[in-house]
Amino acid sequence: MADAPRSTPGPEITTGEHRRTAWSNWSGAVRGIADRLLAPDIADRLLAPDIADQLRDIVLDDTARARGISVVGSGHSYADLVAPTGRTLVDLRHHRGVVAVDPAAMTVRVKAGTTMRELNRELAAAGFALPNQSAIDEQTVAGVVATATHGSSPRHGTLSSHVVAARILTADGRVRTITQDAPELDGVRVHLGCLGVVLDLTFTVVPGHRLRKVVHRRPLPEVLADLDAFREVHFGGFWWYPHTSQAIVWEAAPTDEPPTPPPGPPGALLGLLCNNSWPPRVTGAAHYAAAVAAGRSGARVLRCDDALLHHLPPPVQGTEYSVPFDRAADAIRALVREVRRGGLRVSAPVDVRFTAADTGWLSPSRQTPTCHIGVTHPVSARDPERWVAPLRAVDSVLWEFDGRPHWAKVHFRTGRELAGRYPEWDRFQELRRAWDPDGVFLGGHLRELFER
Ligand SMILES: Cc1cc2nc3c(=O)[nH]c(=O)nc-3n(C[C@H](O)[C@H](O)[C@H](O)COP(=O)(O)OP(=O)(O)OC[C@H]3O[C@@H](n4cnc5c(N)ncnc54)[C@H](O)[C@@H]3O)c2cc1C
Repeated sequence: MADAPRSTPGPEITTGEHRRTAWSNWSGAVRGIADRLLAPDIADRLLAPDIADQLRDIVLDDTARARGISVVGSGHSYADLVAPTGRTLVDLRHHRGVVAVDPAAMTVRVKAGTTMRELNRELAAAGFALPNQSAIDEQTVAGVVATATHGSSPRHGTLSSHVVAARILTADGRVRTITQDAPELDGVRVHLGCLGVVLDLTFTVVPGHRLRKVVHRRPLPEVLADLDAFREVHFGGFWWYPHTSQAIVWEAAPTDEPPTPPPGPPGALLGLLCNNSWPPRVTGAAHYAAAVAAGRSGARVLRCDDALLHHLPPPVQGTEYSVPFDRAADAIRALVREVRRGGLRVSAPVDVRFTAADTGWLSPSRQTPTCHIGVTHPVSARDPERWVAPLRAVDSVLWEFDGRPHWAKVHFRTGRELAGRYPEWDRFQELRRAWDPDGVFLGGHLRELFER
């Protein structure tokens, strides 16, 4: 596989300072002209012995503070967390790589701008792996942790739950090291980019291993009736193919079997059948054909991180709700009814995944075994707002099941509504205001949530 591509800020800009630079996220739905974009050349160690010194100058600069500062990862959030317009953007693409693996403590310390793909490769070469993965590996480690990105395993919380230490440069120019004995660690776990510049993170690791992944097709009503089976798997989840009653179920478990060849990318036809904005009846037929094809893919044995990855979809907008496991079957049934009743053009398979309860103050899985229900909609250049109505309808349905929206995806909730779903909301606010009293790291979207 090629190196993880960065969607921002454009291939020609790699280091230095760039004035009035256009920035957009992966899907192109979030875009703006930043006041300036800084991509510090951290490799120049003679001039800058520590990245923190370079970043401190930026964080303490009066103009940057007045206009606001956002750190950008790989730009893979659908939500406007970066809020580029008029702000100083800091791109840490050169601050990457593993600092140290500690085999006794079973941890890895990694620089914030490292992509998940780079981390997985370095760990595999050293005989280790992260305990879990998300569906793609293009994101940076700091970006993943910012938004409580997750995979699908009832034995693991979100990827933020695997963080055991963090180093963060806060708005006063101090570098804070937060370790497991610090109460703030559960606040930093899901930092949303608004606590400061994360410099590096330490994650728990497990010995490298292979997973045997099995995929099969089942009727959705059967899958929902038997949902408790997902409490027992190592890794597993399913996709519901909207406008059909078909589900593709996948499960993965550790194995000593020899590896099989990796699957190729899905063909263009399958991609089209799964991602379109055709009328529901046409989509139903397309999805049925796609589910039959997907259900034939059988079993594979792959390196653990590769086994849990899925193919990157074409640019889409997405919403995702995390509902308590106990309410998941009813939530999905309600979603199915709404899609049918409203004729919603939910065109891509709905991704259903699971995580264990975890402890991050703003983790959607906080203290609750969770089912995550993800719905995407294609982005259309001709009709850029087309996704709004279907995703708003999905948001309305899943909110009623004690849902907490994914921080990185679109939702239609106010801060006050979200505060009611997060018992530690005020504690996070206290920490944020203590570390960043002027709201230097608070972009427009987050300001709406935290300051209105
Ligand atoms: C195709 C696709 C697949 C996805 N799959 C999954 C999935 O399987 N599971 C899941 O839960 N989510 C998934 N996501 C969501 C994705 O994991 C999150 O959006 C993640 O936050 C993206 O990381 P990033 O590096 O692109 O960060 P960005 O989107 O660039 O930034 C995210 C946040 O992190 C902050 N940030 C980044 N770096 C730093 C730093 N060094 N210091 C301080 N703040 C920082 C930014 O300011 C921003 O607030 C997916 C998204 C896409 C587009």
